Amino acid sequence: MRYLVLGAGPAGLTFANKLLQSGEDNFIVLEKESIAGGLCRSVDVDGSPFDIGGGHFLDVRRPHVNEFLFKFMPEDEWDLYNRRTTLHVNGNVIGQPIEANIWQMKIEDQIEYLKSIAIAGCNLGEPMPERFIDWIYWKLGKKIAEDYMIPYNQKMFSKELDQLGTYWLEKLPNVSFEETLMSCLSKKAYGKDPGHTQFYYPKKYGYGELWLRMAEALGDRIEYNKNVNGIDFTNKTVTTADCSKYQADVIITTIPWLEYEEIIGMPEDINESLKELKYSSIQTEYHEENLDTESQWIYYPDPKLPYHRILVRHNFCPNSKGYWTETNSERIDMEEPNNNFKYMNKFAYPLNTVRKPEIMKRLLNWSKDRGVYGLGRWGEHSHYNSDVTVDLAMNLYDELR
Ligand SMILES: Cc1cc2nc3c(=O)[nH]c(=O)nc-3n(C[C@H](O)[C@H](O)[C@H](O)COP(=O)(O)OP(=O)(O)OC[C@H]3O[C@@H](n4cnc5c(N)ncnc54)[C@H](O)[C@@H]3O)c2cc1C
Repeated sequence: MRYLVLGAGPAGLTFANKLLQSGEDNFIVLEKESIAGGLCRSVDVDGSPFDIGGGHFLDVRRPHVNEFLFKFMPEDEWDLYNRRTTLHVNGNVIGQPIEANIWQMKIEDQIEYLKSIAIAGCNLGEPMPERFIDWIYWKLGKKIAEDYMIPYNQKMFSKELDQLGTYWLEKLPNVSFEETLMSCLSKKAYGKDPGHTQFYYPKKYGYGELWLRMAEALGDRIEYNKNVNGIDFTNKTVTTADCSKYQADVIITTIPWLEYEEIIGMPEDINESLKELKYSSIQTEYHEENLDTESQWIYYPDPKLPYHRILVRHNFCPNSKGYWTETNSERIDMEEPNNNFKYMNKFAYPLNTVRKPEIMKRLLNWSKDRGVYGLGRWGEHSHYNSDVTVDLAMNLYDELR
C-alpha cells in the first residue's frame, strides 16, 4: 500500500485521519491492542472513567490542534478547567511550581527555601551544568533539590536520574529568583504559568473517548491485535507476531523502537545505539475514597510513599468518586497488595538521557531518507504530551502530502 501507520495512539490516529480527510484511502494502521488510544485510553472503573495511562488532560495552548480534535468530539462535550494542583513538601501543602509558591509555606521554611535559591549556582553566575541532577542544584539549591526535585523526579522517572540531560527543560517551570521574591512579598504566585494552566476534560467520558471516535472514523482501516515486531528497511516491509507481512511506500512508526525484535537493513552502529534508549513504566491504581481537597492532581516527593502523583477524579470528572495513583514500576513492591483496579503502562516516559538527542537525530534522519518516519512520543522517543503529538502528526502529513 501507499502508507502504513504503526500504532493507533494520538499520533497514528491523527496522521491516518488526515490521510482519510484528504481522500487518500490506500493505507492501513496496525495496532497491538484490541482498542485504539495508546497511553490516552480510558476504561470504566467503579461507574466512571479511569485513564489507564495516568492523568490525561487536553491543554488549551494549541488552538489549531483542538480545532482539529473538536471535529471528532465537539467542544461542548468538554468541560474547561482552571488548573488547581498542589504539592506536598516537608509538611507544607502549596501550589505548583514550588518557586512561585514558597510564600504558602511555614515562615521558617520560607527562609530556608529562599536561602536555597539565593545561593544556587544560577544566581551566583556559575555556568549551567549538562546533567539534570546537577542542574537541579544549580537552579534551585540544595534544600529544594533534596526535599523535592530529586526525590520527586527519582520517583517518577527512575533511579537513573544521573543519566538525564538538560536539553528538555522547557517542560519544567522557569521562575526567576526575582519572581520568587516578588511572590513571597506580595503573597501570590509570580512567573510563567506551568503547562495545563487551563485544560479540557470530557464531561461524560474519559479522555480515551476522543481517540475511540478518531478510530471509528477510520473504520476497518485499523487492524487490531497486530503486534509489530520486525521491520525491513531494504524491502520496506514490517512483520507482526502472527507472521503477517505488510509492504508500503511510506511507513509511519509511532511504536517504541525497542519493540522491534528484528531490524533488517539498518547500519549496525545505529541499530546498536537503540539499546541505549531508556524509558520508565508507570502503574495506575484506583482508590474509591473521596479526598478532602479541591486539587485536580497532587504531587508527592516523599520517598516513603510509593506513588509520586495522585489524580483526584471527583475534581475533574463529573459525578465520579475516588482517585488514582501513578507509581513507577520500580517502586511497586513497596505497596500493600490489594484488589484495587490497576494498569501497568510498560512504555510510559521516554527518558531524556544525555545521548538521546544524538541517537534519535541520526536514527530519524537515516530512516526518513528510506521513507520510514518516526513520529510521536515513541517514534521520536520524546516526552511529548498528546496535543504535541497531534501537532507533529499534522505537520508530518503536510510535509509528505
Ligand atoms: C503519566 C502520564 C500522564 C500524561 N498526561 C498527559 C496529559 O495530561 N495531557 C496530555 O496531552 N498528554 C499526557 N501524557 C502524554 C500522552 O500520553 C502522550 O503524549 C500520547 O499518548 C502520545 O501519543 P502517541 O500516539 O505518540 O503514543 P502512544 O499513545 O503511546 O501510542 C502508541 C500506540 O502504538 C501501539 N503499539 C505499541 N507497540 C506496538 C507494536 N509492537 N505493534 C503495534 N502497535 C504498537 C500502542 O498500543 C499505542 O496504541 C501523559 C503521559 C503519561 C505517561
